[in-house]
Amino acid sequence: MGRYIGPVCKRCRRETTKLFLKGERCYAKCPIDKPSGVFPPGQHGRMRSKMTEYGKRLREKQKAKKMAGMLESQFFRFFEQARHAHGKAGENLLRLLETRLDNVVRRLGFSSSINGARQLVSHGHVKVNGKRVDISSFIVEVGDVITLSDKLKSSLSVQRAMSNRISREVPGWLELNPQLIDTLGRSKDLPVDLGDIKLEGKVRFAPKREEMSFPVNEQYIIELYSK
Ligand code: SF4
Repeated sequence: MGRYIGPVCKRCRRETTKLFLKGERCYAKCPIDKPSGVFPPGQHGRMRSKMTEYGKRLREKQKAKKMAGMLESQFFRFFEQARHAHGKAGENLLRLLETRLDNVVRRLGFSSSINGARQLVSHGHVKVNGKRVDISSFIVEVGDVITLSDKLKSSLSVQRAMSNRISREVPGWLELNPQLIDTLGRSKDLPVDLGDIKLEGKVRFAPKREEMSFPVNEQYIIELYSK
């Protein structure tokens, strides 16, 4: 599956908003937080004229697509799936994006960025209900248990990402192993010896709209594709 390999922060600058594509760096050293403000990239970035109605819808779709780290054809497939499912198409679409395995790995804190989470999945480090799944677009369901390979227990980057996630709270629709929260939440010096504590989390229920990590107007995306 193809993926974007160009400059990452440029993608946020194009949307003039933070898309959190670089993990921890996005909280510590983000060009968008500069007091001088942010402008779209390119020679005429500062001079862009007023956005059209079509442009507004396009930008919302691009934002969601970039945050999910997807390319157009894959994103459109998700839209088709959402459109044919029961309920509101916009919410269905965001729920599909939210419950992709790579996003769930990120939301549980096993990685701090979507690209890092995707790498963990594609390198075969993630199991769902005890079975290895290396497809990042796999959709998890309520009750699924997501486990990270024991090999990564001593990984400093995994432990650091989890520790940061714990301090910012795991979303309510997911449940991280309470023993992990207890051990990593208390430890200041990482990495710690996790012993037989599993790197594991569970899907408690389907995410509600307000719990999803896509700050976009989903109605605009539906309108764009429905033209
Ligand atoms: Fe770069 Fe992250 Fe800031 Fe986006 S949010 S501009 S990816 S540092």
